[in-house]
Amino acid sequence: MNFEIDEATRVRLEVIRERGRSEVRPIGLEADRLGRPIPVEDPYFSRLVERGEGRTRWPGPTAGKGGKGGPERKGGPGPSPTTVTTLLFVEELAYWDRGVMVANPGVGLPEGNVLAMGTEEQKERFLGPFLSPDRPRWACFAMTEPGAGSDAAAIQTSARRDGDGWILNGAKCFIGNASRSDWILVQATLDPTKGRGAQRAFFVERGTPGLGGFRIEKKMGLKAYESTSFTLQDCRVPAANLLGGEERYEKPAGFESAMRVFNAGRPIVAANAVGMGRAALDESLDFAREHDLLGDARTRDRLERAARKLKMARLLCLRAGWLADRQRPNIVEASMSKAVAAQVGQEATSLGMELLGTVGARGDHLIEKLYRDVKAMDLVEGTGQIQRIIMARKLVGLPRS
Ligand SMILES: Cc1cc2nc3c(=O)[nH]c(=O)nc-3n(C[C@H](O)[C@H](O)[C@H](O)COP(=O)(O)OP(=O)(O)OC[C@H]3O[C@@H](n4cnc5c(N)ncnc54)[C@H](O)[C@@H]3O)c2cc1C
Repeated sequence: MNFEIDEATRVRLEVIRERGRSEVRPIGLEADRLGRPIPVEDPYFSRLVERGEGRTRWPGPTAGKGGKGGPERKGGPGPSPTTVTTLLFVEELAYWDRGVMVANPGVGLPEGNVLAMGTEEQKERFLGPFLSPDRPRWACFAMTEPGAGSDAAAIQTSARRDGDGWILNGAKCFIGNASRSDWILVQATLDPTKGRGAQRAFFVERGTPGLGGFRIEKKMGLKAYESTSFTLQDCRVPAANLLGGEERYEKPAGFESAMRVFNAGRPIVAANAVGMGRAALDESLDFAREHDLLGDARTRDRLERAARKLKMARLLCLRAGWLADRQRPNIVEASMSKAVAAQVGQEATSLGMELLGTVGARGDHLIEKLYRDVKAMDLVEGTGQIQRIIMARKLVGLPRS
């Protein structure tokens, strides 16, 4: 692996750092204080869109057909970064505020699925509006249900064929940005007794009759973005909204498609945890300096240990990303990066809380916010236990359960 950071990446990291300091962290702190997600109409989102953020990685409809890469985009962000570069960016973004990072407009989690599995017509319909968005736009991926979290194969949301469409029924919960999304990629099953092979993913557009009951969940942290539950009641979508079209599902690809997102997503969540842990460490060092705690060798030792573990976790993230960039299997590395980084991030914030003492208990210090925010890194996209189960099965040569 080459650890050098090229000039374009270095400049971009500087920009993230500058905006993080001046804009992202203050907005995140405000959302936390108010205990609500950043409103859709907040000028912060429009500013991002004006700057050319929130765009899809999809190059456009003429790409792949001998074209030049789709319609010209004014002031676009340039070529798509590699996974390794993305990991550096998301670590830095989470350093300033992971909740704001997820609140930012864009296709988000389902983009990888649509790029990998979507038909050209679906890319045009669902990613096209994100090429040069005229306003802040969001999309999201809905897998989790009140009765199916870790065991994603147990989802109950049903899909029934009806003429030239599908009827969806079910309930989803904790879905990031759901109520503000232009469309939701909903994971459903044709038959809940048949497990993964019977799963399909459907584009459900905002305003589709039967999609409703949006309720923003109460969360302990990451308050800048909404995690939302909703229901699908006899919600009819056209046949063309089945991700990849029917032929893609002749093999058990529905569940695999969802898992593909997770394999790409785990190192990103892990890098987020490293960024949040680094933020807590920097704040802890400042606090310890200001309060004359650094004379104590044990305190220095604990701070050094946190710094060392964060660096180790970052290396695991980069290794998982490096494999993904080479399209090499990264299941173990992706799980390992997340299992380790989420824990290390929690340790760093927890150490900060101990150093703060009663200052932390008051609930208005950045470290206390990071302590609440970082917990979700151990939950989303597979809990720590689930990552360890995956790695242990792989170690002894068992197939993924
Ligand atoms: C902030 C936040 C944002 C989220 N965003 C999204 C989103 O955008 N889209 C989406 O689809 N979902 C989202 N989720 C849901 C998330 O993916 C689930 O919370 C996660 O999969 C865990 O599921 P669960 O909460 O139902 O816990 P459960 O699966 O009920 O697990 C409870 C506990 O049991 C353990 N456990 C479960 N099974 C086993 C096992 N076989 N062996 C050992 N231990 C086990 C778990 O590790 C955990 O500690 C979000 C959640 C949070 C907290």
